[in-house]
Amino acid sequence: MSFRTLDDIDAAGKRILVRVDLNVPLNDDGTISDATRIERVAPTIRELSEKGGKVILLAHFGRPKGTVVKDMSLAPIAQGVADAIGREVAFADDCIGPAAEKAVTAMKDGDVLLLENTRFHAGEEKNDADFAKALAANGDLYVNDAFSAAHRAHASTEGLARLLPSYAGRTMQEELEALEKGLGKPQKPVVAIVGGAKVSTKIDLLLNLVKKVDAVVIGGGMANTFLAARGTKVGKSLCEHDLAATAKTIMTEAATTGCAIILPVDAVVAREFKAGAASEVVSVDQVPDDAMILDAGPQTVEKVNEWIGRANTLVWNGPLGAFEIEPFDKATMAAARFAADETKAGKLVSVAGGGDTVSALNQAGVASDFTYVSTAGGAFLEWMEGKELPGVAALAK
Ligand code: AMP
Repeated sequence: MSFRTLDDIDAAGKRILVRVDLNVPLNDDGTISDATRIERVAPTIRELSEKGGKVILLAHFGRPKGTVVKDMSLAPIAQGVADAIGREVAFADDCIGPAAEKAVTAMKDGDVLLLENTRFHAGEEKNDADFAKALAANGDLYVNDAFSAAHRAHASTEGLARLLPSYAGRTMQEELEALEKGLGKPQKPVVAIVGGAKVSTKIDLLLNLVKKVDAVVIGGGMANTFLAARGTKVGKSLCEHDLAATAKTIMTEAATTGCAIILPVDAVVAREFKAGAASEVVSVDQVPDDAMILDAGPQTVEKVNEWIGRANTLVWNGPLGAFEIEPFDKATMAAARFAADETKAGKLVSVAGGGDTVSALNQAGVASDFTYVSTAGGAFLEWMEGKELPGVAALAK
């Protein structure tokens, strides 16, 4: 897909509406506990400001559902943005109407203004045409730098792109280019690792992947559902027995497309799901009736790493085990480190995403060694499912 970027913008003197993701976690005292999202959009804001644009930030915060909820005001976030970009950020207490208009009129070239939470208006999530027009009234151009909100067809993510000349911001551009390398036009062979708790949340994703990649490694709790579907006893493991038919369909589909499905051959089992619980490694067909599978075993890791070693591209969502609790982090950590080494050696393009995956890679200390790590949750999953993201589609040239 081709889209315009900041390289195509003549920013000087223009009022530029920039959709960003400022949905940062806060501490009890209202201070920002993790500014990653703000740091990600800072380059776009800085660049447009340095080019003399009037940078008007649009964002949502929390889920106020169309009404003004004081706790969900973006006002306290303005200082966080100012800190990240190294210049003052003004704030207007509405994103449309007289308050927004007055603040925009007062802007000089290079100024940055943050408008209040777009979701204080019901028209935002409804993608209401009049609301989108009211937003557009304050801008000459539109930049979307919020990939993480691009799976929603909202007024500030989709409607606006239809009303104003639109461009991808630097973070959006980087994300789209990385994803294109991951699944769009990847270097084959492509291996996907899909792990996590449940199959039920990842059915569409698996059905899409088996059509596109050479091998899917299934890990975590969801592997148990696949093992059980083929008749392996999984004891007290987390398992969606009612999804046996779905798991079989995915395996049949994979056989048709020639995609290898890699399931665990051994497992780390325990009687208790807690840190430091006594555990043992068993073959997957010897899981005791009273035990739970909580991680993949060493032979499985070896097999997974062989596939990663063979691959030119890796797409990863979801851990191979209950990585938050020792000693059940080993498989996820070992595969993450190996993928990072392959990437550093120039042998692998590695793209990972989703909240748990990002924390697992951080825990392994290798997030920065991957080719790209997406912090977008829902949008990343929908991309892996092969769905068109409305906010991205609206940017297409
Ligand atoms: P998800 O949100 O679906 O990506 O699932 C991530 C969660 O799955 C993490 O919190 C892991 O602890 C959990 N998980 C991974 N493997 C297992 C397992 N074998 N049994 C129970 N939970 C698991």
